Amino acid sequence: MMGLSLFPGLGYIFLGLIHDVSIRAFIWYGLIVLVSLWGNRLYKSYRPDEMTVKSKDQWYSELSYFYYAFFSLWTLIFLLYVNEDTYNLHYIAIFTQIGASVVASALLSSDRRLFVPTILILMVPLIIYFFAVNQWYGYILAIFSIVFTWVLFYSANSSFKLLMKAEYHATHDHLTGLYNRRYFINALQQMMNALKGTDSYSYLLLIDLDHFKTINDSLGHDVGDQLLQEVTARLKTCLPSRDVLARLGGDEFIIAGHNTDEYSDSKERAMELSKQIINSLKASYIIDRHHLYISSSIGVSLISSSSSDANRFIKEADIAMYEVKARGRDDVILFDQEMSGRVESHLELERMLHFALEKDEIFLHFQPQFDNNQNIIGVETLVRWNNSKFGFISPAVFIPIAEQTGLIIDLGGYIIENAFRTLSEWHDKGIELRQFSINISMRQFFHYGFIDEVKKHASHYLDQKLNETIVFELTETIVAEDIHKVVTIINELKTLGMHFSMDDFGTGYSSLSYLKQLPIDEIKIDRSFVNELNEDEGDQAMIITILKMADIFGLRVVAEGVETQDQFEFLKQFKCDYYQGYYFSKPLSTGDFEKLYSS
Ligand code: C2E
Ligand code: CA
Ligand code: CA
Repeated sequence: MMGLSLFPGLGYIFLGLIHDVSIRAFIWYGLIVLVSLWGNRLYKSYRPDEMTVKSKDQWYSELSYFYYAFFSLWTLIFLLYVNEDTYNLHYIAIFTQIGASVVASALLSSDRRLFVPTILILMVPLIIYFFAVNQWYGYILAIFSIVFTWVLFYSANSSFKLLMKAEYHATHDHLTGLYNRRYFINALQQMMNALKGTDSYSYLLLIDLDHFKTINDSLGHDVGDQLLQEVTARLKTCLPSRDVLARLGGDEFIIAGHNTDEYSDSKERAMELSKQIINSLKASYIIDRHHLYISSSIGVSLISSSSSDANRFIKEADIAMYEVKARGRDDVILFDQEMSGRVESHLELERMLHFALEKDEIFLHFQPQFDNNQNIIGVETLVRWNNSKFGFISPAVFIPIAEQTGLIIDLGGYIIENAFRTLSEWHDKGIELRQFSINISMRQFFHYGFIDEVKKHASHYLDQKLNETIVFELTETIVAEDIHKVVTIINELKTLGMHFSMDDFGTGYSSLSYLKQLPIDEIKIDRSFVNELNEDEGDQAMIITILKMADIFGLRVVAEGVETQDQFEFLKQFKCDYYQGYYFSKPLSTGDFEKLYSS
């Protein structure tokens, strides 16, 4: 852009060379060349992507000095040369000035700080010059030039406004008016540039609202949106000046600190700010006459010159934020290397899990279920993974990974098919079961192909009588989802004769009202309650209540994790239906189960 300044500059030299070859003139030419070269150097040093906020400010102030110098020089030369005027001088002046102005106003319209002074510098001397000609045609040309200057301003300004509008939409979030992810990454990159070559740190706060989805689903998106706007307003009041706040999407916000500090100071600042935010967001909200409470989880990462990748620091803050969620939410945690190690091994497992099916490392175990007379009445299918490098890995570890990565769809399909096949083979061998349970993950349950997958394998391996023994175990978290959709899916499979069970009952959100809405047939008392039966009277009361409630709703009850005779006797006394646990049997391979059954 600034290269343009060379253009009129050289125009004047040309003009001068024709009319003046004195030493005085050469001094002027020299000055013009110097200033033009300065402009060119400025132009070349403008690198918006790599510059920090501070160096950009410096650049702009140098630019304005450059404009002053150029303007003064031109004005001086005009005044000096106007007396030696010829027609050539007019043409050259008009040509260089107007040409340059048009190009400049078009090219520089992206920045008001650029096009306003440029147009002024190019057009004002021309107007002065025409007046100074002191002829009738000079006055007319001067007036034309004034009108033309105004037109240039007007058009440059309109395109500037249009550009600003487009820029606003591209860099801001619609709902909250905050910056969006794209802008934020850019701003963060600039902050990181500022840290280059220093030992300083700044902070990054990733803020996620806890259970926002529940509010959104139960009260509607309007209320959810208003809540997000209110949260935004509160975040702004906590925000230190010049820190950058953005919404990454959904209920996730992010802050990048402006000030740089030593490690410990930066850390302290980040923690203090986080606590202030957590407290501020926790105060109650009144939206559409609803009194709402929401807590937040914050992950912190400290930005330094150790990496030039902005996304890495966001990822770190994200890992720390998930750590907060895992430890019960409503808190702040600073990212550390140990966390990153865990993420690494998590990623490694994820990679291995990808090939587990192909490499035939996945198989099923079956834990028998018993009735009051200790007869086997059914089994629960439990998946097993024996990895070549890590050995046996618990489903409690790999099922959540499979859910996060989406692998659960293939894995779940594989489990259903193998479970159905085993059931059918057992039936052929004369093993009669009253129920055959299979665990279903949330993500698998809501997948569009789930119903068809079940139907396909059922028609291949089972008949109506066997269909009726199938029990799908769902976890309680399912009630936090769209309850209408849950009911539709359950009812669709119930038309085949299959049944549904609420797993880990008592640990999650389930309430009586949900139980009434869901067409389930069975609940499984979580093993944590059964486990503490002997010591904890609260748990005894809990189990008695669950059993009574189930009786009222006409639900079957399976107690899981029964490990002692006392636990079994207690449960039997309060009319539990079925039992499952190490007291009776551990999960068994197909062969071991067949042996146990026949004995
Ligand atoms: P869950 O559905 O609650 O399964 C019961 C877990 O309790 C099993 O652990 C079982 O081995 C264990 N268990 C049984 N009896 C006792 C006992 O007396 N004492 C104790 N302490 N534990 C007992 P497992 O097999 O490690 O499975 C853990 C979780 O992994 C399961 O919890 C379930 O949520 C998930 N899972 C297992 N198999 C599958 C599957 O095929 N599909 C899906 N989606 N999830 C599965
Ligand atoms: Ca289960
Ligand atoms: Ca369970």
